[in-house]
Amino acid sequence: MKLYGKDILTAYFKTALRKHTLGHLYIFEGAVGMGKKTLCRHLAGMIQCESTDSPPCGTCSACVKTQSGNHPDIVFVEADAKNPLNVERARSLVADMYVKPFLSERKIIIIPNGETLSPAVQNTLLKAFEEPPSYITIFLTATNRDALLKTVLSRAIVLQLPGCSTGELAAYIRENFPGRAADASFLAGSAGGSIGKARFLAEDEGYLAMRSALFSVLPRLTASRSGIYAVRKCFEEYKDALPQLLSFFSSWMRDCIFLQISDDAVLLNQDVHSALSEFAFSVSPEAAVRCHEAAVSLASSLGKGSNYTLWITDFLTECWRYCHDTNRRC
Ligand SMILES: [Zn+2]
Repeated sequence: MKLYGKDILTAYFKTALRKHTLGHLYIFEGAVGMGKKTLCRHLAGMIQCESTDSPPCGTCSACVKTQSGNHPDIVFVEADAKNPLNVERARSLVADMYVKPFLSERKIIIIPNGETLSPAVQNTLLKAFEEPPSYITIFLTATNRDALLKTVLSRAIVLQLPGCSTGELAAYIRENFPGRAADASFLAGSAGGSIGKARFLAEDEGYLAMRSALFSVLPRLTASRSGIYAVRKCFEEYKDALPQLLSFFSSWMRDCIFLQISDDAVLLNQDVHSALSEFAFSVSPEAAVRCHEAAVSLASSLGKGSNYTLWITDFLTECWRYCHDTNRRC
């Protein structure tokens, strides 16, 4: 199990292990898809690994058990919005925490989706949080620490999950989705630091097809007025995915702006560099800025237009005019 973008946190826990300063309760806070559960499993494996050189070694008996989900001293609590931990299960979990580990020196309890724990459940768990047995380490994940009681937070070390860099996400996509290697940079740039979103985008066949469809017609905005209708056809085809389509539109204009102001611009859509360059040098810098602003403005008013076709035609006509405003060209 390879971990992406969490070097700082793993280094933190390696130091705590080496110095024997591992705490009893850690809360990992981060948005959905940031890899909180994967991180917890990785850290649990690291703590249980028999190797002191570079845990988790992946080959010792403890690592083999961890990887197969059968390590008796790693308890992963199934808890989410559909199957929330109730008071009864929480009581039984607390009782289990007072049973000594079977094989190792520590017992790791992983409780995901802390934001789904009711105050009553949190109060039940509080006993173990306040008086933990010496061998216990609890990992609690949450999308937002505000969902947890102050009494729980006060007992914990709260760690914010860092997002992955674009480079790390691109490496993840290339390794896990070889068929998407050519689009790895673009997908990574669209994932906003979230490995879950990167995975979702890489698995979504329609995502890249929609982008290709839009990018194949966008240059028509620099041609005759009939180009508006070619682009509108694409907007009609992908009507149900308008926010995403507008985000592609914005990313195209953003790249044009960067190309116009810098020779070594880092593009979101590097794979269509040639088409972007042609577009960028066919329109004024102000046109690309105005088109970008119009797309952002349209995205913020989604659902307010009563006639979709008219609404999109107005937007594209506005953009076409910007693209043909030769008086402003630099
Ligand atoms: Zn190991």
